[in-house]
Amino acid sequence: MQRHLKPNNTVRKSFVAVIAGLFITVGCVLGALVADSIGNITAKSDSIDDSRAVSAAASAVGAMKKQLEGTIRDNAFWDDAYDQVNSDNRDDWITENWGTTTEAYPLYDTAIVVDATGKSIMAYENGAPLEGSLSQHFDGGVDALIAAARAGTSVSVHFVRSDEGVVLMGAAAIRPSNPDIRFDKAKLYHLLFAKHLKPDAVAEMASDFSLKGLTLRQHPDASGLNTSLDDISGKPVGYFAWPRQLPGSRSFVEAKPELRAAALILVLFLGGLGFVGFITIRNLRAGENLSRHHATHDALSGLWNRAGLLENLGHEHEYASKTGATTQLNFIDLDGFKAVNDGWGHGVGDSLIVAVADRLSHMMPNGAIIARLGGDEFAIVLTETVQALETADLPRRIQQCLARVFDIDGRTIEIGASVGVAESSGGILAASELIRQADIALYRAKDSGRGVSIIFEPSFDDETRRVAQLEGQLRQTLANDEIGIVFQPLVHSDGRGICGVEALARWQPSDGTMIGPDIFIPLAERSGLIDTLGQQIMTKAVRAAAQWPGLGLAVNVSPLQLKNPRFVRQVLDILAQASFEPSRLTIEITEGVLISNPDQAHRAIKGLKAAGIKIALDDFGCGFASIGTLRAFGFDRMKVDRSLIIALNNEANAGKVLQATIALANALDIPVTAEGIETDEQAAMVRLSGCDELQGYLFSRPLTAEKLTASYFPARQSDVTVAAS
Ligand code: C2E
Ligand code: CA
Ligand code: CA
Repeated sequence: MQRHLKPNNTVRKSFVAVIAGLFITVGCVLGALVADSIGNITAKSDSIDDSRAVSAAASAVGAMKKQLEGTIRDNAFWDDAYDQVNSDNRDDWITENWGTTTEAYPLYDTAIVVDATGKSIMAYENGAPLEGSLSQHFDGGVDALIAAARAGTSVSVHFVRSDEGVVLMGAAAIRPSNPDIRFDKAKLYHLLFAKHLKPDAVAEMASDFSLKGLTLRQHPDASGLNTSLDDISGKPVGYFAWPRQLPGSRSFVEAKPELRAAALILVLFLGGLGFVGFITIRNLRAGENLSRHHATHDALSGLWNRAGLLENLGHEHEYASKTGATTQLNFIDLDGFKAVNDGWGHGVGDSLIVAVADRLSHMMPNGAIIARLGGDEFAIVLTETVQALETADLPRRIQQCLARVFDIDGRTIEIGASVGVAESSGGILAASELIRQADIALYRAKDSGRGVSIIFEPSFDDETRRVAQLEGQLRQTLANDEIGIVFQPLVHSDGRGICGVEALARWQPSDGTMIGPDIFIPLAERSGLIDTLGQQIMTKAVRAAAQWPGLGLAVNVSPLQLKNPRFVRQVLDILAQASFEPSRLTIEITEGVLISNPDQAHRAIKGLKAAGIKIALDDFGCGFASIGTLRAFGFDRMKVDRSLIIALNNEANAGKVLQATIALANALDIPVTAEGIETDEQAAMVRLSGCDELQGYLFSRPLTAEKLTASYFPARQSDVTVAAS
C-alpha cells in the first residue's frame, strides 16, 4: 500500500504512447495516401496506354480494310474490266490482270472472280490457281460478301476464315466506272481480293502501329489486349492479341528505389519530429515535476513540507473513505532542539534535523508519509486497518527512535520527542480537522513534559473551550485591574520575626470560584497576558509594601517577562512612582529562563541589579542549572524548593540532599530561604542546614494587605487599605 504522491508514471507513459500513436497514424495515413495515389497514377497511365494500343490496333485494322477496299474499287469499277469480263477474252484477261498478280502484289495475295450465279470462274492465290471449290478454302463469309456486293453498290471488306487462317477479303461487282454506260445488274461478275494475315504481315502492322508482341490468335488472350477480327455478320473469326505494355507499372517498378527512399525519408522525418516532440514534452514534464517537487518538499530534509502533507492527507482521506481504513496523523515536536540550536549553532541544528529525518524515514512502516512542517516539527501519516495501526504502534516507535543519542560532527546530542496523535476512521474527519486534533494533542504532550505521546480525545475540545473561556475572563479581569494580591511573610530563621513578604497573585473570577496561580500564570503566559499581569502585580505589591517600612518585598516574575526589553524600565518606573527603595525589592525567577534565554535573562538581571534590585533564584534544587551558571548570574538569594522540604518526611536521604543543596549555595556565598515550612521539625532542620530565612504555613499563610497590616503594622491599618485597593 504505497500511496505517496509521485510523478504519475502511467499518465506519462500513456501520454507518450498517444503521441507515438499519433505520429504512427499520421505516417500510416500519409503513406496510404501516397501509395494510393501512386497506385492510381500507375493504373491510370496503364489504362491510358491500353486505350492507345486498342485504338492503334483498330486503326491498323481500319487502314488495312481501307487499303484493300481501295484496291478492289480501282479494279472492279473500271470500264475496261467490265468490257473484258463480258468479252470472249474474259478468262485470259482476268487471269493475266488479277490472277497472276497475286504472286507478288503486296496488297492482296488472293484474287477470285465469280459470275452472276456466284460460281467461281477464276481463283488464284500467290500466283497459282486455287484448286477445288471456294467453300473448300473459305467459310461462309465469302458467300455473304458476294451477296452484300451484289445487293449494294459499294465494296464490302471483312474478315473471313480460310483453311490457312484468317484473311481480309473484299468483294465488289465488276462494273463500268463511267455512269453513262448502262449495264444489267443481275448479270454482273464480282471481283474478290483477299490478303492472308501471315506472320510477316502481322509483324509489319505491329511495327507500323507500335503494337509490340502483336499476334494473330483464334481466341482472345485474357491476360493481354485483343481486337476482334469480325466477319460481315459481326462474328469474330480471329483476334489480334498483344500484351499490355503497362508503362505506369513499369515506371513504378523503375521508380521503386526512389519511392522507397522517399518513404524512408518520410518515416525518418516523422520519427525525428516525434522524437523531438517527445524530448520537448519530457523536458517540460521534468520541469513541471521539479517545480512541483519544490512546492511540496522541504529543501533541508527532502521530506514533504506542509503543502505536501496537506496534499497527501487529501489522498489518504479519499483512500480511507473508499476502504474504511483509519488514518493516523502523528505530529512530532523535538524536545530540547532549541537548546541545541542556541548552544551549538544553526549548522549543527540543521544536521540534527537531517539526522532526525533520516532516522524517522528508516523506521517508518511501508506506506507511511513523512513530512517536516518547519523548525523542529515533523509529521507522520499512516492509513491502515485499526489492527495494523496498533501493531505499528507509531507513537511509541517515534519516541524510541528519537530517544537514542545522535552523533552530529562528533558531538553527542540527546533530544527526545513529544508526539500528538489524531485518528480518523473511514475518512470521517476532514484533513484540516485531523490536523487541528493532532495539534491539540501535541500541545498537551509538550505541556506534560518531555517524551510524552498523547492521543487526541474529544474531551480535549471541552478543555480547549474551557481554557479559551478562562482566557477571556482573565483578559477582562486584567482590563478591570481586578487581579488580586496576597502577601506571605518571610521570617528570620533565628527567630527575630518577619523580614519581608512575598507577593502572590490571586484571581477570583466574577463567579466567586478561586483559581490558583498554578493555572492562571501559565494561562497568562500562553495568551500574551503575562506582561500586563506582572505589571499590575508589581504595582500593587510595591504600593502595599511601601506602607510596611523595613520589610523586604519579593515579587515573582515570569521568564517571559524577562524577555521583554522594556521590563527593567517598567519596574524602575513603578518603583519611582511609589518612591519605593529598589534595594527593598527582590525579584524571584526560576532557572528555566537561564537555560532557554540566557542572554536576555542576563541583560535583564544586569539592569535590575544595577538599579539595586536583588535577584533570587526560586524553586532551587529541582532544576538542572550548573554551579557555573548560578555563579555567573550573581544571585542575591536562593529559595530551596518546597519539594525538598516535603521529601524530608518521606525519603530517607532527603535531609542529605537538602543539606548539600544549601551547602552549595552557601559555598557560593549566597544566602538561602526555605519555603513551604509547615512543621517545627522542618524549620529546625533547614535552620541547622544553613537557611537564614524561612517561609511557610508554620509562620503564616499568605495574607491580604489589610490582614498583613493588621497583624504586623496595626498602627498603619488605614493607610494600607487605601494603598492596596
Ligand atoms: P512560589 O513562588 O514557589 O510560591 C510559593 C507557593 O507556595 C505559593 O503558592 C504559596 O502559597 C505556597 N506556600 C507557601 N508556604 C507553604 C506551605 O507551608 N505549605 C504549602 N502547601 N504551600 C505553601 P501559590 O500562591 O499558589 O503560588 C504558586 C506559584 O505561582 C508560585 O510559586 C509562583 O511560582 C507562582 N506565582 C504566584 N504569584 C505569582 C506572580 O505574581 N507572578 C508570577 N510570575 N508567578 C506567581
Ligand atoms: Ca516565589
Ligand atoms: Ca518557590
